Amino acid sequence: MSEAALIKDAVCSFCGCLCDDINVEVEGGKIQRVKHACRLGSSKIMGHARMQSPMIRRDGKLVAASFQEAYDQAAQILLAANKPLLYGWASTSCEAQKKGILLAEEVGGVLDTTATVCHGPSVIGIEEKGLPGATLGQVKNRADTIVFWGCNPAEAHPRHFMRYSSNSCGRFTPQGRAERKVVVVDVRETRTARNADKFVRINPGSDYEVISALRMLVAGKGESVPDEVGGILKADLADLAAMLKAAKFGAVFFGLGITHSRGRYKNIDNALSLVAELNSYSKFVIMPMRGHYNVGGIGQALAWSSGYPMSVDYTRGAPYFNPGETAACDLLARRDTDAALIIAADAASNFPRATAKALAEIPVIQIDPYENPTTLLSDVVIPCAIAGVEVEGTAYRMDGLALRLRKMVDCDLPSDEEILTHILESVHRLRGSQNPKEA
Ligand code: SF4
Repeated sequence: MSEAALIKDAVCSFCGCLCDDINVEVEGGKIQRVKHACRLGSSKIMGHARMQSPMIRRDGKLVAASFQEAYDQAAQILLAANKPLLYGWASTSCEAQKKGILLAEEVGGVLDTTATVCHGPSVIGIEEKGLPGATLGQVKNRADTIVFWGCNPAEAHPRHFMRYSSNSCGRFTPQGRAERKVVVVDVRETRTARNADKFVRINPGSDYEVISALRMLVAGKGESVPDEVGGILKADLADLAAMLKAAKFGAVFFGLGITHSRGRYKNIDNALSLVAELNSYSKFVIMPMRGHYNVGGIGQALAWSSGYPMSVDYTRGAPYFNPGETAACDLLARRDTDAALIIAADAASNFPRATAKALAEIPVIQIDPYENPTTLLSDVVIPCAIAGVEVEGTAYRMDGLALRLRKMVDCDLPSDEEILTHILESVHRLRGSQNPKEA
C-alpha cells in the first residue's frame, strides 16, 4: 500500500474565489480526500466521468481517433475557415490562453471569452469609467459595510462570505459578521439575502433608476427623487444612502443580476459612478463576482497582448474590438463565422438558442475534460487534463490577483496548452510555413 501524501494550501480551480487553503490527500495516484473546499470545489477536485479518447465525426458519428488525427483535423478546419471563432477560455490556465491567442493570430480568427455572456457589460463599463477596486484581502481586513447587488454568493461562490467578505474575521474586523453591515439588493429573496441586515427588493430591470436615485440622495439632492423608485420607497433609499455614507470602508460586489438586466453596461457605469462618489465621504470599492475561475485571466492575457479584454478580431492583421459586432453571439447570429474552436466552456448550453443553432451548422472543435452539450454538435473532440488538478498553471482571482495553480495528481491526457501547441504545429505543417513568432 503506498503512503498517502498531503498537499497543503492548494488552490481550488472552480470559481473566481480561487480559495488557496485547500488540503488534498493523495494515495495511489488518486485523490482520496479534499479538505476546506466547498461542495462545488470538492466535486471538481475529486473528479467525475471524463472523456478518455479524442473523437472525430465520421459519417455523422463521433468515433475514436488518435491525438495526431484530431490535431490535424482541427488544424484543417481552422485553416479552411474564413473567420474561425475561438471561444471559451474561462476554465483553463493563462499559459493555455496565451497559446490560444497565438493560434487565433495564426489562423486569422476571432477570440472571444465567456465574459461575452456574463460579465462582458462589466468589462465595458469598467473600460469606460475605471474601477475603484481593491483586493479581497483589503475587504476582509477592513470592510464594515458590504453590498451584494444582483449576485448570490451563498450559492455561486459558497466560501466568499467566510474567506473574504461578510462573515470573515480580518485584522481590523476581528468580530467578523458582528461588526459588518450587509446589504443585499436583488429582485428576489436569495440565500444571500437571508444573511443580510438590509434586503432591498427592487423591481426587475430597475437597477439603473435605483442607482441614480441613490446617487442623488448621496449627493444631498433628494428633493429631485420621486417618492418611489424601482418599487422602493424614497425613505428606504434615503436610509440606504445614509448607511453607505456612514461606512468606514464599504465594498460593493455585483453579479449578473445587474450586468444582464435592462441597461447592461450602463448599469455598471452608473454603479461605478456611485462608488466613486461615495469616496467623497468614506473609502468605497467595487468588484464584479467573476464566475469561472480564470475568466479574469483570459481578460488579462488578451489585454496585455492585444489591448482589448474580449471579443478580439484578428482577421484584419491587427487586433480589432467592437462588442456588438465581434462578440461570439454577434458573429453566430449574423452567420459571420464558419468554424469554431470551443475550449474550457460549454457554448451550446450557455448561448441563446438561435446562436447555439448557428454553432451546430458549422464545423466545431471541442477541447474539454468532460462531455457536455457542446460535444454533441462537435466534429473534433479532444479530451484534456484538468488545470489546477492535473496540470499547474496561472489563474487570476476575481480581484485581479494572480495565483499559481498546483498539480495534484498525474494524468495521461495532454494539457490544454499542449493540445493548442500541437494544433499550432499541425497548422504550420499543413500550411507548409514556419511560425515567424516562434522562430
Ligand atoms: Fe472552490 Fe469557489 Fe468553493 Fe472556493 S468557493 S472552494 S474556489 S468552488
